[in-house]
Amino acid sequence: MKRRDFIRKAGATLATGAAAVGVPGMAQAKAEFNWKMVTAWPKNFPGLGTGANLLAKTITEMSGGRIKVKVYGARELVPAFEVYDTVSSGTAEMGHSGAYYWKGKSEAAQFFSAVPFGLTAQEMNAWLYYGGGLALWRELYQPFGIIPVPAGNSGVQMAGWFNKQINTVDDLKGLKMRIPGLGGEVLRRAGGITVNMPGGELFTSLQSGALDATEWVGPYNDLAFGFYKVAKYYYYPGWHEPGSTMEALINEKAFNALPKDLQQIVLTACKAANMDMLSEYSARNNQALETLVNKHKVNVLPLPDEVLKTLKQLSEQVVKALADKDPKSRKIYASISGFREQVMKWDAISEQAFMRARSL
Ligand code: CA
Repeated sequence: MKRRDFIRKAGATLATGAAAVGVPGMAQAKAEFNWKMVTAWPKNFPGLGTGANLLAKTITEMSGGRIKVKVYGARELVPAFEVYDTVSSGTAEMGHSGAYYWKGKSEAAQFFSAVPFGLTAQEMNAWLYYGGGLALWRELYQPFGIIPVPAGNSGVQMAGWFNKQINTVDDLKGLKMRIPGLGGEVLRRAGGITVNMPGGELFTSLQSGALDATEWVGPYNDLAFGFYKVAKYYYYPGWHEPGSTMEALINEKAFNALPKDLQQIVLTACKAANMDMLSEYSARNNQALETLVNKHKVNVLPLPDEVLKTLKQLSEQVVKALADKDPKSRKIYASISGFREQVMKWDAISEQAFMRARSL
């Protein structure tokens, strides 16, 4: 008898005993694999942290408790920016984060979270699952002993909260804005001053004038942070994060040690988490937007076309510059930009044409 089977039988015996005193059997079954999941999010943070919780719960329940995944919020075990190393070393078997945090490991990682003026959530999924994106992502993380898996998406974000109106490109000059990643580099090229700081400091920085503007996520998360109390204008669309993918990081050795059925459970649970987070954001953003507009009287404004056109040109330069830097980025850039070009043609006569028709 394999050790695994033996343990399962022993667990079942225990469970039967426990059931007699009214404790559910599954909770008593001894896990064959106890996994730690370290995350880049504050514990239970709405959308992102709760998405990680759901993923852990799904894996645990789908496997009948054979894998038990325990979630650690940022700083509970390690700080947010150490998630990658912690999974790479195997100290934690799993992580949940966003690929743009790992540009220090590999600049090309940024392609797998969000590209300014890049792919929407649905397009990202199409590229990752069916357009060769996921294979490129695995190749990129392979030297670190990590298997990346899509496990969440924020959908289109908002351009952010501003304390002054943006009417022309000149209004971006000297603008002190919190905007991370490639979008931050774009703002810098437009003459803005990119500031990076943790989410927890944004409210007071806007209030004190240390920041003129900040992006965060979308109505659901932004309402919770109370930005409407300290910034006058809420601009759209989130040109810099059109559909940010969240990732599950899995230690390769830990994954390979699982039997095939449990491997499949982990991957399928990630796919479910990917779909679930996008659905949650879509539903809750609608509700939160209504509250912001009707209850808090927020000024929701579109960025002018002229500004968007300039940001788009600069974005292309920034992404191209990244692609020119190293061969890995060049290969991924070629794949994602080729896919974008193709999908835009189809979108023009499907999603875009339908959205237009629906609003006539
Ligand atoms: Ca954001």
